[in-house]
Formats: sequence, structure tokens, C-alpha cells
Amino acid sequence: MIETERHEYDVVVIGAGGAGLRAAIAARERGLRTAIVCKSLFGKAHTVMAEGGCAAAMGNVNENDSWQVHFRDTMRGGKFLNSWRMAELHAKEAPDRVWELETWGALFDRTPDGRISQRHFGGHTYPRLAHVGDRTGLEIIRTMQQRIVALQQADHAETGEYESRLRVFAECTVTELLTDDDGAMAGAFGYWRESGRFIEFSAPAVVLATGGIGKSFQVTSNSWEYTGDGHALALRAGANLIDMEFVQFHPTGMVWPPSVKGILVTEGVRGDGGVLKNSDGERFMFGYVPDVFKGQYAQTEDEADRWYTDQENNRRTPDLLPRDEVARAINTEVKEGRGSPHGGVYLDIASRMKPEEIKRRLPSMYHQFKELADVDITAEPMEVGPTCHYVMGGIDVDPDTGQSRVPGLFATGECAGGMHGSNRLGGNSLSDLLVFGRRAGLGAADYVAAAGRRPTARTGAVDTAAATTLAPFGPPERGTGENPYTLHAELQRRMNDLVGIIRTEAEMAEALEHLGELRRRVRDVVVEGHRQYNPGWHLALDLRNMLMVGEAVASSALTRTESRGGHTRSDHPGLDPEWRHRALLTTCVRDGGQEHGDVPRIAVERTERAPMRDDLLALFDLTELEKYYTAAELAAHPGARP
Ligand code: FAD
Repeated sequence: MIETERHEYDVVVIGAGGAGLRAAIAARERGLRTAIVCKSLFGKAHTVMAEGGCAAAMGNVNENDSWQVHFRDTMRGGKFLNSWRMAELHAKEAPDRVWELETWGALFDRTPDGRISQRHFGGHTYPRLAHVGDRTGLEIIRTMQQRIVALQQADHAETGEYESRLRVFAECTVTELLTDDDGAMAGAFGYWRESGRFIEFSAPAVVLATGGIGKSFQVTSNSWEYTGDGHALALRAGANLIDMEFVQFHPTGMVWPPSVKGILVTEGVRGDGGVLKNSDGERFMFGYVPDVFKGQYAQTEDEADRWYTDQENNRRTPDLLPRDEVARAINTEVKEGRGSPHGGVYLDIASRMKPEEIKRRLPSMYHQFKELADVDITAEPMEVGPTCHYVMGGIDVDPDTGQSRVPGLFATGECAGGMHGSNRLGGNSLSDLLVFGRRAGLGAADYVAAAGRRPTARTGAVDTAAATTLAPFGPPERGTGENPYTLHAELQRRMNDLVGIIRTEAEMAEALEHLGELRRRVRDVVVEGHRQYNPGWHLALDLRNMLMVGEAVASSALTRTESRGGHTRSDHPGLDPEWRHRALLTTCVRDGGQEHGDVPRIAVERTERAPMRDDLLALFDLTELEKYYTAAELAAHPGARP
């Protein structure tokens, strides 16, 4: 029997980014004993990197903004594949969540008359992103950590123990979820990264808030944590993933030098006036406004420039089209020979704003380029190109509570699917994590209250989880000794080259063949050394998750024979209304013959999306909906022709 440290909680939240912290606060405020587990240092989650801001229709800068406008923008950005219920809740509740942060001590930038300032971002009709310079995520995480400390102090005053109701387990990786004999959640199993010692949490409710999957791709803005753990944990526990073909390639990542390729250049640069140019000095985005957005974007540079100061009488610049459109446009410019020397295009803020203003509004961008690329963005343009940034697909959850199909298993934040449809608008992630983090925490609390019993993990489940975790250490007869770093590099290259921004049937079939081969080779991964802080071992375990997620993305992308949002098929270039009402679900295949350490196979199946409620459908003009919907679906629209 392998030695394992044990803890009992009501709710275990896996992930300490914005979504996880907001969920934990909600569960603790209901009086539940709550654990927060994160594989990075506490306070170092991905959310900290969020730069541009948090979208909420507060109407501080343009009073015409409202939840209805935000809802419409979000659905348009997602090309009408979003869970409309999530988009509705998100648009209605985001302003309260931002205000709430201020009551907990956050301080957003102000308008001249003292209100929370809001900036422009792609796809948002009005200036809508509440921000703190270009370090918004940092302020959000700092504030929620402060809130957690305040709750711990209240617990200390009542019980004499700071951690009696809320404890953080940092640098602790969860490798498996535990279910009971009925398939309901019973807890989680993992290891301390420093010592390699095992840890088991027993809990009736688990909230996954593990973020994204970017580390499966070679060029990405994502940090080392984004290995799709939550997606894979959920699959193995019996939950479904939805919409995994939709991966967002942010149009503006750094392209030079190679060591920093992929690091994000915030959309705030364009929101504040920066423009994209090709090697001929042309503002090329005017040539890339797609039919579905015609009439909504400026057609001349003069109108686009006037729009920054007068949105009532001018249309927005096409530099701020949704991200999928801008990323594809940059890709085309580079392919057609109008790119910059290092394979990107130019992003120019230097000729548009005074140096002091650039440094004040975009301090992180100024330092990032100065220190990493020796480029002074107040004097010269940046070179930028697409980078894998965000996954719209994720764990399929109930919109109101965040519960997956596994009783007691909840998901929120980037690892949950549905909210953003086929393409996320910038700024809608920070608001998503606040709105649905809170809802998942409350959902878990309600579930625990109703359950009335503590489930017990299946007999032998912890031993199996431990054996799987130890599998990379040998024994030597397991095979020829594959190196986890080699396999990871291969996975990233295949995903980037074959399942990247532009996809074809032949390339994705090839990708799936390679991924199948990698799935077999990962059984033979052998790591050296001990369990004490061993990065090779950690990667070997993460690889299992990245492979499952990679197959989910490639299989879903192969199945969807159309182009929409973050999924572009050059062999199926148009939107197909018949695909609008279909979703793709990924499930885990249990074929019995698996050994410890084997990566389970996945399957993808089609399902129908729930039709949008009539009152929400009526918020759109029929002529706009006709670009996306089938005639049969629109029969109930108030403007429908008899
Ligand atoms: P994270 O904040 O990533 O947290 C995930 C947590 O899960 C971490 O604590 C991690 O340690 C933990 N974890 C993962 N796996 C495990 C495991 N197996 N065991 C234990 N713990 C685990 N969005 C916006 O709305 N506005 C922006 O301006 C913006 N800017 C961005 C800039 C950059 C550079 C990037 C990369 C993204 C940006 N985004 C932005 C997107 C947004 O930041 C993310 O989508 C969001 O922060 C995700 O939050 P989360 O809480 O879901 O996950």
C-alpha cells in the first residue's frame, strides 16, 4: 500500500485562477469546508497574465450599452453557437461581479468623472472592458486573494483556526478524480510537486477550474500550466466535452525573437488606437470585412479614425473585428508575401499616440518589447502574428449551476465549454470566470446540501491512481524508454502544423494517425530520478492529458465540415446553417484492456443544440439571423414571413 496523505472537505476546487478563486469564495460564503488545489504557486495562475480587461456592460463610457447589446455581441462573436443561456447570464451578471470586486478592494482605472473606465475591444459595440492599465488579471487575482485572507481571518476569529473552512494546497497537482460505485464524485487524487508525495481529497463535490490547453501547440500565449488537465480529468471521470474543434488563435502574438514567439500582444493596443499594416504600409484589414459583418465596420481610414472619439456617427475600425477574422487576415497577408521580415505583420501604435501616453496606457507592452525584443514601441512598430490563445471548447456543463453530467462534478472558467460558441470576444473570459465561478461555487454548495451523505471512492481507485502516477518510473521492461520532452515536442509540432489555424481533412487525418502513434509511445515513457521535484515526471503525467485533448480537438475538427469562428477548413470554407444547430460531444472510451499509464481513447458524437428562447431570438433582426440559421429554425421569429 502506497503512503497517501488524506483530507476531507465539502468542496474541492481544482485551480486557483479567477474561476477557481471565485468558486471557492462562493462555497466558503455558504459555510462549506473548501479546499483550493493548484499546481502552480498560489497567485501565479494564468489569470494573472490577462492584460486588456474584463467585459461588462456598465455603460460608464457610453451609456447606450446594456446587457442586451453585450449579449448580441457575444452571440455574434461566437457565430451563434454559444450556449445562449450562458451568454444571457454572463451579460446580465458581469457588471455586478465587477462592482463586487471593488467592494473587496480592487481599484480599476477611472474615467475623468470618477467612474470605472472601459476600453474598446474587438467585437464589442461600445467601450466595455473595465481595466487596470494592461494588468487587469493581476488586480483581479490580488483582490480575490485578499478576499480569501479576509474569510480566513473571520474563520480564525470564530474557530481559532485560519484554515478551518478554507485552505490552499499550492504546488499540488491533481492526476485523477475519484468516483463512487454509482459514478458520483467522491474526491480527487494527486501529488505534491516538491516532494512527490501523494495526497487524496475526499469530497462530495469537486469544481474543476484548471484553465486551457495551449501547451499542446507549439506557438502559444499560454504558460506551462495549460496542459488540459481539467478537460482530461473530466473525460476520464465520465463527463463530456463540447465544441473542442474551436480553438482561438489570437491574431497578435510576438513573432521575434524565437525564444518569445507566441507571447501575447494585448488587443488593448488596437483598442487604444494601434493599427495593423502589411509590408507595403497598407492598413489591410479594410479588405477583410466578411459579409456577415458588412455595414458594421468603417470602410475608410478616416471614418475608422474618427470612430475612436465619436462612436455615434462613425463605424468601428476593422482592426477590431473578432479575433478569428483578424487572425485569418494576417495569415493570408503573410502567405501572400506581404508579411514582416520575421513572418508576421506590423502593429503600429507609435505613429498614433504620444510616447508618454503609450507608456501610461500600455506599460506591460512597452516593457515586454523593450526587454524581450529590444523594440521601443513608442518609436517603431511591433511585429505580430497569430498564436494559440484560448480554447472555446470544454467540459459540458449546466449553464445555471456549472454541473457536468457526473453528479457532484462542476466546471468553470476556461476549462468549461459553451459560453463562447465558436469564438470568444476579448474581455469575455475575465467576466466569464467571475460570473460562472460564483455560480459553480453556489452550484456545488447546493449539491452538497442536497446530497446529505459523503460518498466513498470505489475500492482500489486510489491504488490504481497511484500506480498510474508511478508508471513512468518503470520498470525498465515497459519498453525502450521514450523521453517525455521528445514526445511533447512532437505533439506540439503536429498540432501546430496539422490542426492549427487553417485545417484540411487530409491533414487532420494525418494528425490523428500521429496522435494514435504518440498514444502508444507514451506507454513507454520512462523518467529518471526520484519523485522529489522532478519536472520530467510531471511532464510525463501532463502528456497523457495533452494527448487526450489533442485527439478531442483533431477528431472534432475533422467531423465539422464547415468553417466557423476558431475552426477554419480550407476544404469547407463557408458557414453551413445545418451545422449551426449541431454540437460535437467528446466522450472517453473505456475498452477494458487498458493498463496503468495507458491513455484512454476518445470518441466524438453529434448532438442538437437547445434552440434559443424566443425573447432572446427577438433581440436580433431576422435579416441577420438568416445568415446563420435554417428557415425552419426561424419560423418562430416575430419578424418571420408567413
Ligand atoms: P487559470 O487562471 O489558468 O487557472 C488555472 C488554475 O488551475 C491554475 O491555478 C493552475 O495551477 C491550476 N491547475 C491546472 N491543472 C491543475 C491540476 N492538474 N491540478 C491542480 N491545479 C491545476 N481574458 C480576458 O477576458 N481579458 C484579457 O485581457 C485577457 N488577457 C489575456 C492575456 C494572456 C497573455 C492570456 C494567456 C490570456 C488572456 N485572457 C484574457 C484569457 C484569460 O486570462 C484566461 O482565459 C483566464 O484567466 C482563465 O482563467 P481560469 O480561472 O479558467 O484558469
